[in-house]
Amino acid sequence: MNLEKLIRDIPDFPKPGIIFKDITPLLANSEALVYCADQLAALSPDRIKIDKVISIEARGFILGSMIAERLAAGFIPVRKKGKLPSEVISKSYGLEYGEDILEIHKDAIKPGDNILIHDDVLATGGTANAVCQLVTELGGNIVQCNFIMELGFLNGKEKLNCNVASLLSY
Ligand code: AMP
Repeated sequence: MNLEKLIRDIPDFPKPGIIFKDITPLLANSEALVYCADQLAALSPDRIKIDKVISIEARGFILGSMIAERLAAGFIPVRKKGKLPSEVISKSYGLEYGEDILEIHKDAIKPGDNILIHDDVLATGGTANAVCQLVTELGGNIVQCNFIMELGFLNGKEKLNCNVASLLSY
């Protein structure tokens, strides 16, 4: 299946100079959505049982929860500052277009849990790196960071000290 034709380039969004990779046409296509979730779950190394899939709001949640279902894993949300209701730990990070703070519930991970981190796009790697730091701080074992696509020219992979896999590369 050609996923690339279902990813739309939106120039100058949300800022001049950024080409935003819009996955909404992919999400709206029932066959592509199932195929994408199946393929992302298949990227996870089969010999390791994943305990929890962690995704980043908001687009990461969509496929992240579908991957968790396929791997019979739990799902943990990482959210922007102030959105999670219980006790959290926080990490500030740099984006391709700005800065922000991510949070995770303190009790979300048991030490030694095998964790798969998923997001839609790997750009500069700042977001995924912040999530990796949160997971490591809570004692989780990061098995893989996976993405629908990576923007290879931004070298995000170099920021991540773990197994990185993507369905598409630009
Ligand atoms: P980064 O931290 O630079 O790797 O940025 C990754 C995060 O920002 C992901 O959550 C993406 O959803 C979003 N993002 C960054 N750049 C883009 C882009 N060009 N198109 C779509 N989403 C992007």
